[in-house]
Amino acid sequence: MTKPVLSVIGETKLELGSGEETAFGTWRLHQDADGIAWAILDGKGGANTLSEAVLTDLSKLLDAIESQVPKLLVLRSAKPGGFAAGADISEFRDASDEAAVADRLRKGHGVIDRLEALACPTVAVIHGYALGGGFELALACDRRIAIEGAWFGFPEVRLGLHPGLGGTFRLSELIDPTEAMTMMLTGKSAHTKKARQLGIVEAVVEERHVRAAVQALRGKDDGSSRRGLKAALFDMGPARKLAANRMRSQAGAKAPQDHYPAPHALIDLWETHGGDRDAMQEAEIRSFARLLMSDTAQNLIRVFFLREALKKNGAGKSGIETVHVVGAGTMGAEIAAWCAIKGLRVTISDIKLEPLAKAVKDAASTARDAHLSDIEIRDALDRMMPDPKGYGLANADLIIEAAPEKPDLKRDLLTAIEARACKDAIIATNTSSLELDELAALLKKSGRFAGLHFFNPVSKLDLVEVVSHGKATRKTLSELNAFVTAIGHLPAPVRSYPGFLVNRVLTPYLLEAALMVDEGIDPVQIDRAAEQFGMPMGPLEVADRVGLDICLHVADSLRDNLDTPIPDVPDWMRKRVESGRLGVKSGEGIYAWEDGRPKKGKADKHPAPKDAQDRLILPMLNAAVECLRKDVVADADTLDAAMIFATGFAPFRGGPMHYARQRGFDDVVNALKELAASHGPRFAPDAGWKDLG
Ligand code: NAD
Repeated sequence: MTKPVLSVIGETKLELGSGEETAFGTWRLHQDADGIAWAILDGKGGANTLSEAVLTDLSKLLDAIESQVPKLLVLRSAKPGGFAAGADISEFRDASDEAAVADRLRKGHGVIDRLEALACPTVAVIHGYALGGGFELALACDRRIAIEGAWFGFPEVRLGLHPGLGGTFRLSELIDPTEAMTMMLTGKSAHTKKARQLGIVEAVVEERHVRAAVQALRGKDDGSSRRGLKAALFDMGPARKLAANRMRSQAGAKAPQDHYPAPHALIDLWETHGGDRDAMQEAEIRSFARLLMSDTAQNLIRVFFLREALKKNGAGKSGIETVHVVGAGTMGAEIAAWCAIKGLRVTISDIKLEPLAKAVKDAASTARDAHLSDIEIRDALDRMMPDPKGYGLANADLIIEAAPEKPDLKRDLLTAIEARACKDAIIATNTSSLELDELAALLKKSGRFAGLHFFNPVSKLDLVEVVSHGKATRKTLSELNAFVTAIGHLPAPVRSYPGFLVNRVLTPYLLEAALMVDEGIDPVQIDRAAEQFGMPMGPLEVADRVGLDICLHVADSLRDNLDTPIPDVPDWMRKRVESGRLGVKSGEGIYAWEDGRPKKGKADKHPAPKDAQDRLILPMLNAAVECLRKDVVADADTLDAAMIFATGFAPFRGGPMHYARQRGFDDVVNALKELAASHGPRFAPDAGWKDLG
């Protein structure tokens, strides 16, 4: 978790220089009496991005600096949160003219190059984040000074891109090129200590010492071209080639080139041009422009905005400060821990004591995995109170029921909960399969009741379905959406429906894989077919992770409650569940499991049949269209977002509906018809395809 910068630097005011001030749009220039010029970035909004406007304004500021050269130029941000994030991603959206993008980049490079070439020494003072273009701006200065807590990174790869404003050559010249490449290839950031170790910054100071640190630099040489021995070594082709090949095979294992071309383009760039700055600069510009045109980059940019849109569902205040969780099993325990980690006061009850003890123990490791410090872990655990008698029910603003999925038990439990809850409390259920209108009918205050469907593991899967029913009030739903956002998750508003949205769409994929196993197709090859489409893991591995008992339960309830044909779960799977082979949790399911990994063994030499990929993927699209037709979800974008953030649906494809649109709705419908002819009516295209334009 990232700490707010001001809590790190105390309430100290940022040192932004003094003296005469000249404004250059998003920048301000202060000329100190002692000859130090302070260029302060203060763009619109709460955070600085490196938009085109910021670069144009910087160019004007540089005109002024070049005409009256100071003894030292300091670059800083006026925003308390950090230095600068990357480019304004909205400027990349729907880009379609590669040459125009390259031209714009060349202009940006021109400005950054001028900063680098100034006749005076330059220093960037960085607090908070310096990401993407913001990092590249700092790299063009002769020196970098960090305030404790500062962090640096190139997240472009997550958008299907690589740095595009000189980062590829400036970082690999400044630090060990293999470390530079790792940062760019993985998108992982370097926090203060690591940044110092790597040589990204040359000093770490406290905010109140910034002025003194800057003054000490005045009159020093520009310090540039202090390239390490390693950088020089990698100027020699063979060493670079060797390293590049290693990077290529690592990148290929994680992200196949045809799905994720950016890491491979970056490795090519460095292998071919590393050590030749001019060539690398031109190649970086061209490669970035080319990547930006790719479906992968545009779809990943789309995913970025889908996340933002989900967060907006939860804008506003939840008013929820205390939470009571009923049931301390797999879900309840982690929901409670997560709420406590995020600062809420939590009580948790269970009919047994052991799950409560385990819940507290597991909360500590969840907190550790979320990078909390020892003190923060202690505070989070202090906020989470085991409460066997359920006293917390009377005070909680929100009560989350996470008891076993047994209809009678849930019915009784919910009415008992309502009897003990305070009058304005929201009661939410984490049920995966029960009809919410029916449960709501049992309650006196049905307007304050709704579903909060978390996914397992709660700390890793961001999505939460906020499930409405006929009587849920708007206020209840908007408070729940805000609650989900407040605990750092993504709220997807859906309507009560068998399987809600995510399980309704995902189950046919898992079920089809189970049917293929029944036909004698090798499980490893089935999983491989889905992975080749771009799913993060195959359906059989997912089923084992979710638990075969849970999959069976969801599949049966869909079959019983939907109008559309859902095939029977094959006998082999039922038998496996009866014999207790449930997947990861029992150590064996479809695969045997060891240390959280499936032992898949050697794949059968026969790959899955040609139509396997469509057999797995298209039923998801078909169910998605059904959900849109039945208004289970408001629109295709929310649907795509929910499937990506709950199940990892191939992000570079932009979501199931986006994939269907890009492939062509007609093509998908025809493929479904062919599958229906050869494999059965479960593939019959949904009536909703006709309404999609
Ligand atoms: P679980 O069996 O792991 O835990 C349920 C807990 O509830 C147990 O500790 C049990 O002792 C306790 N309990 C039983 N009766 C109780 C009562 N009357 N009062 C208080 N506690 C009681 O179950 P789970 O997997 O955590 O599932 C809980 C809910 O979450 C279910 O509705 C399930 O459908 C849903 N869910 C589960 C998953 C999943 O992957 N496990 C995912 C999403 C939603």
